[in-house]
Amino acid sequence: MAKLRFQALGELMNREAKEVVFPSAKATDYYGELVFNMDAMSKYLGKDAYKAVKVAIDKGESIDRKVADTVASGMKAWAMERGATHYTHWFQPLTDGTAEKHDGFLDYGDNGHMIESFSGKLLAQQEPDASSFPSGGIRQTFEARGYTAWDVSSPAFIVGTTLCIPTVFISYTGEALDYKTPFLKALSAVDKAAVAVAQYFDKDVRKVHTNLGWEQEYFLIDTALYQARPDLIVAGRTLMGHSSAKDQQLDDHYFGSIPERVSKFMIELEIESHRLGIPVKTRHNEVAPNQFEVAPIFEEANLANDHNLLLMDLMKRVARHHKFEVLLHEKPFAGINGSGKHNNWSLSTDKGVVLMAPGKNPKGNLQFLTFVVNAIAAVYKSQDLLRASILTSSNSHRLGANEAPPAILSVFTGSQIADTLDNLAEKITDQKMTPDEKTALKLGIGRIPEILLDNTDRNRTSPFAFTGNRFEFRAVGSSTNCAAPLTALSAAMALQLEEFKKDVDALIASGVKKDEAIFQTIKKVILESNPIRFNGDGYSDEWKEEAAKRGLTNITSVPESLTKYLDANSKKILCETGIMTERELEARVEVEMEKFMMKIQIESRTLGDLAINHIVPTAVAYQTQLIQNVQGIRDIFSEKEFNEIAAARKELIKTISGHISAIKAKVKDMTEARKKCNVIESGEEKAFAYDKEVRPYLDDIRYHIDKLELTVDNEMWPLPKYRELLFSR
Ligand code: ADP
Ligand code: MG
Repeated sequence: MAKLRFQALGELMNREAKEVVFPSAKATDYYGELVFNMDAMSKYLGKDAYKAVKVAIDKGESIDRKVADTVASGMKAWAMERGATHYTHWFQPLTDGTAEKHDGFLDYGDNGHMIESFSGKLLAQQEPDASSFPSGGIRQTFEARGYTAWDVSSPAFIVGTTLCIPTVFISYTGEALDYKTPFLKALSAVDKAAVAVAQYFDKDVRKVHTNLGWEQEYFLIDTALYQARPDLIVAGRTLMGHSSAKDQQLDDHYFGSIPERVSKFMIELEIESHRLGIPVKTRHNEVAPNQFEVAPIFEEANLANDHNLLLMDLMKRVARHHKFEVLLHEKPFAGINGSGKHNNWSLSTDKGVVLMAPGKNPKGNLQFLTFVVNAIAAVYKSQDLLRASILTSSNSHRLGANEAPPAILSVFTGSQIADTLDNLAEKITDQKMTPDEKTALKLGIGRIPEILLDNTDRNRTSPFAFTGNRFEFRAVGSSTNCAAPLTALSAAMALQLEEFKKDVDALIASGVKKDEAIFQTIKKVILESNPIRFNGDGYSDEWKEEAAKRGLTNITSVPESLTKYLDANSKKILCETGIMTERELEARVEVEMEKFMMKIQIESRTLGDLAINHIVPTAVAYQTQLIQNVQGIRDIFSEKEFNEIAAARKELIKTISGHISAIKAKVKDMTEARKKCNVIESGEEKAFAYDKEVRPYLDDIRYHIDKLELTVDNEMWPLPKYRELLFSR
């Protein structure tokens, strides 16, 4: 094995940056060329079909079967001209990543000749034999069929020689088996609820979109080194490795100049993203060595999320052209920063008004405050649900672990907004306001754009931060499908806005003027959601105490957090709004519990194997050398001299023995613990058992291995070390 490590290091010395050729000098020349977008549709579809698709997109409906044939044939023609030979429904099962099953266009024609065919039926719906995807018991084997149906709101695109059609994935009985289906429902719920509230301010608003701008963090590791780390290959993170003398303490990587090889990777990734219509815009080094970030311009959330999933896939493929592997795991290396995926989230109307951005006049600002205050309340009332939507086995190494954001949900508003809200809560009375009082309030609100203009407040420790014209859900993990957190957030926001409207309408019905009714309801919402607002240091221990006093929850165990999906509050948010049925929700939790359990199981098996088959033999070999050395010393020296010279070496032999014995014993115990857990019937209990009984061994065993790494001859150590993984590029 040490051979592999040194071979990898040798290979690295000869690496050169791969040249990348731009398709054209301007990105706009090739932007979206692989997407069957409105522009392409207008060229390849007849007028009627084009119109039908446009209506379906605007209304969020599916298209008529008859039109589907025309659309399919236009789509096929477009795709074949660009080299496509196959098509696939592209969907998001409850595993990580996306799924696809390719079928050729090639088929028998009516007269037995081979033809290229793609019908409306195949475009609109498919029954992939996808019975191996997790369904949480929804698909019993006798009804194992799930089917995929075209999501018209996300355009088809070409990857390689395959036409990909974004679809939802549902069971034969109509239940969601994917992340996209409930997400679309949640987006539509928030649309409806937000339109109703936005109409207080502008009667002509007909639609409210959710916007998402994600920031994807990742690590790059040279392929050769990656191949020499079985833990990275199998578990996605290093299960051992002593920290490097230098890592991120000098902060010299963050925003530094981008290394040449990495820069070429980024350029190719951008070209390929742009051809696929993914509007990536920003690239930079992140805090940890070999950590980077890519971010697009925000888009409508469903499309933005499809683009993020597509990008994650693209990153891996493009990286290999440059002899890199992309690590999307939230915490590939202990002791240094992990990777998140900030979800920049806002709502905007069909009139182009961003509802989380200050307006141009007092009315616009009152609308802005309405949405900000309701967003804060939505987070307050769904803290456990929001956490459940992002706390996975990998993200648990970030949330509430050594490095934050913590597992406590809180909202950072910046001091100016905080002052404004406190001021409003103080000034607004439940009595009828005098004209003077009203003017004073409105004037105060009128100053909002100015105060936000020089609001440079940023808080890196907040899991959910207001950043001027949007909220940034920063606790989301780098490997997460954003649909999960945004489904929870949108559902909570929809419910909150509905309640807000109910309260305002009740006041109006009792004779209170509209603007006063809004003011009074805003005050109520501010007061009730006060505990979630926190502008201080979210990483501090004082915050943990303070949060507990405020009644905020702090859950770091994944299975425990997942059970919160099923409490009365979450069911109210997700089920009463019609976004998921209880059965769907239960099935989802079952799948997530199983995923958690299996990831720990995989880590545990991998660590056991590496410990016993790689580390222990290496340590024994080194120890044997030491023993031979000590025996040699005894042969040539007097007893007195020997005792002096060999003392330290004998001590070392003992220390190594101690670690070897500990590793062996603990691996054995861990295996026994797994065996006990494996016979547990209930998926939930099994997940809890794995968390409590197996997971702690991972750190325990690692401790001894990392100590050995410091002791054993460098020439013999089989796995690339942290300094090699983090500083080679
Ligand atoms: P920062 O690094 O300061 O957080 P970036 O410039 O990297 O900010 O932007 C983060 C993301 O936020 C980008 O995708 C950007 O398009 C997106 N964004 C900006 N304004 C909004 C908005 N109103 N709603 C949603 N996303 C937004
Ligand atoms: Mg950001």
